[in-house]
Amino acid sequence: MSDSTAGAAVSEASLPADVAVRFREAAKIYDNGVQALAALDLDIRRGEFVSLLGPSGCGKSTALRLIAGLSRPSSGTVQVAGRPVAAGGRAIGFVFQEPTLMPWASVLDNVRLPLRLARMARADADSRARDALARVGLADFADVYPRELSGGMKMRVSLARALVTDPDILLMDEPFAALDEITRFRLNNDLMALWRSLRKTVVFVTHSVFESVYLSQRVVVMTPRPGRVSAEFRVVAPEPRLEAFRTSASYAAQCREVSAALARASGEGTT
Ligand code: ADP
Ligand code: MG
Repeated sequence: MSDSTAGAAVSEASLPADVAVRFREAAKIYDNGVQALAALDLDIRRGEFVSLLGPSGCGKSTALRLIAGLSRPSSGTVQVAGRPVAAGGRAIGFVFQEPTLMPWASVLDNVRLPLRLARMARADADSRARDALARVGLADFADVYPRELSGGMKMRVSLARALVTDPDILLMDEPFAALDEITRFRLNNDLMALWRSLRKTVVFVTHSVFESVYLSQRVVVMTPRPGRVSAEFRVVAPEPRLEAFRTSASYAAQCREVSAALARASGEGTT
């Protein structure tokens, strides 16, 4: 999944204490000449829940891979919580649209995998994996196999696996896009409850206006490829944000505003 593009050196300068991720003029041109990102400028605060919203192909996944250190910017810099992203480590959890579970392994073994790779002792890893499963509501499913789970439950396992290393930053790439609406809404609520209790930095990629406004503190609207920031919205919502927000006039108004910004942004693309 990583690519070999030799990029500008990632800046080693330390970030302000409240900044988790900083993009500065971060552009990405792939080896085949496709320019995915054009000079992305963005700060993400520690503990913030941010959505990147934009049309398919605008570079959202590319931006997440830059944060994860799986790819390097062609120019500009991407800094993650004071350390060079290339250093890797366990500071980041990644959740994809596909749960990517090992079918031959139990739920517990799937969730324990990152700890096994980090060579954590079995008993410790076991108890952490069980804690992570409990957090996503699957305490009773440790011993079942992925084929016995619904799509929503597989996604919960994937989320537990991302949380098991206790990462500072959780990257989520259209995690609920393949789920039915009821399951999606439930996972939205559970994700927010998790975020309220864990207060991790979450960077959530979606092309759904409704999902971005429902979940995030801030919505970053991107232009079509090559992606850059077109507009930003701070979502105003009651705290804690509960299901009632979804049917409120304020939510509808903010969705309209973000939709309009997205439509404007799509007029700004160069391709
Ligand atoms: P999004 O997640 O917003 O749909 P991506 O970041 O996946 O967008 O992709 C942005 C653009 O870069 C697309 O045109 C895509 O085809 C291209 N792209 C993505 N990954 C690669 C790659 N590894 N090599 C070449 N082009 C790529
Ligand atoms: Mg994508």
